[in-house]
Amino acid sequence: MAEIKARVHSLESFGTVDGPGVRMVVFMQGCPMRCLYCHNPDTWGIEGGTEMTVDEILAQYDRNVSFYKRGGITVTGGEPLLQMDFVIELYPILGFGNRLDLHRFQSSGIRKYYFSFESNYE
Ligand code: SF4
Repeated sequence: MAEIKARVHSLESFGTVDGPGVRMVVFMQGCPMRCLYCHNPDTWGIEGGTEMTVDEILAQYDRNVSFYKRGGITVTGGEPLLQMDFVIELYPILGFGNRLDLHRFQSSGIRKYYFSFESNYE
């Protein structure tokens, strides 16, 4: 089976505002929402960023894993669910306490809102 790759805008190795504790933050590339006050408009284009595999993300995580004992990893963007297959592959590997920030699509485009949750894989 071919390894799934995602377009990743950037990785932040020492995130302190995207969930509890110190976290590695994965900013996924691509978002169709076009929110007026978006703080990451450079994530919008799905063609941008760098292609990465789950193993490449985890290798970066492992490099600093001692910092993440009370934190973990947050996947955000952009809109992570544009690259759902990748997120599905990544999350069960990560374990408990990891976080996915996402935006809910509505076909009308009239009401857009934001929520997040903590995964509970163990
Ligand atoms: S959903 Fe998030 S990344 Fe997308 S435009 Fe809105 S604020 Fe920006």
